[in-house]
Amino acid sequence: KITKKKVLITGGAGFIGSHVVRLFVTKYPNYQIYNLDALTYAGNLENLKDIENHNNYHFIKADINEEDELHRLFSKYQFDSVIHLAAESHVDRSIEDPKIFIKTNVSGTINLMDAALSTWKSDFNNKLFYHISTDEVYGSLGEEGFFTETTSYAPNSPYSASKAASDHFVRAYGETYNLPYVISNCSNNYGFNQFPEKLIPLFINNIIENKSLPVYGDGKYTRDWLYVLDHARAIDKVFHEGRKTETYNIGGFNEWQNIALIQLLCKLMDKKLDRAEGTSEKLISFVKDRPGHDKRYAIDASKIKRELGWEPSVNFEEGLEKTITWYLENADWIKGVTSGDYREYYKKQYNVD
Ligand code: NAD
Repeated sequence: KITKKKVLITGGAGFIGSHVVRLFVTKYPNYQIYNLDALTYAGNLENLKDIENHNNYHFIKADINEEDELHRLFSKYQFDSVIHLAAESHVDRSIEDPKIFIKTNVSGTINLMDAALSTWKSDFNNKLFYHISTDEVYGSLGEEGFFTETTSYAPNSPYSASKAASDHFVRAYGETYNLPYVISNCSNNYGFNQFPEKLIPLFINNIIENKSLPVYGDGKYTRDWLYVLDHARAIDKVFHEGRKTETYNIGGFNEWQNIALIQLLCKLMDKKLDRAEGTSEKLISFVKDRPGHDKRYAIDASKIKRELGWEPSVNFEEGLEKTITWYLENADWIKGVTSGDYREYYKKQYNVD
């Protein structure tokens, strides 16, 4: 029986990480939760303001690319488990600059595992390295079928290639050095605290500001969407009950073509903003496709349901409404994260001011 755990969560100031940190800090008061984050453009401690004073929460500003620092931290704090979310996470940025994705996502993951191994030595009792990954490692589906845990990897973007490589290294560390690990691969997340370069917050923000809604290609790309709190609940399950050396797919059984999703978002936003129906849809503008764009992702999440009893709980329209309300009520958060560098990136990416 676990009595006291020292859990290192990396990337806890980011979108998904902040929800995982909050869940663990509040649900497990007898654990010590260490949030390690380099605070890149995507990391924001505002995301954790409400729990920063809990006495089982600790923030460590550090970079997973700093090997010596990681060794020092592991030997100082003696973490017994790791939930690894820190990563470069945006596909478009990976197309612009792939190397930072290799550095952080691949080498950074290896640095963390090395630090864990050097502290744990061969005492793996109650130890766990939990690697958080994406369904994008599986590549693209046709009209039919789902990704399962045994689908071959076929990543198409530098982002997904870097995540695929990191998954392989985690598995290899398990086989070669007996690192106790578990991996989960999740579909697209949405919800509050998501950086507004990602589709849903980007479009909510643009609708608020009456700016155009840049849709890639014909908009017929299909994604499976999961509310971020459902993902955090799944991570809790896998962390505590997942079988070592296994992979679990996590998804919402909730497929949407981009254009249909955007139309739904426009409809909900018109209602929320008291605008005439159809106002926001007029902002849609089709832009040049992203290279290597995967047509369809769909996750078969039946293994985690069967083995661990997890399934998504938040209905999509409800989740979207909650998300929209949060972005409307937190204009300062958006202003804070979109000033500076992001403005330049956005101009370049979409060729607009
Ligand atoms: P995010 O970009 O919002 O957050 C990433 C966090 O990692 C940020 O806080 C950032 O400061 C930190 N970070 C980046 N480089 C770092 C470094 N070198 N050292 C320490 N910290 C660093 O990302 P997210 O959307 O929350 O994704 C988190 C994880 O979940 C990633 O591993 C991602 O691949 C995976 N994932 C995301 C989705 C999704 O839909 N967003 C879906 C499946 C899996």
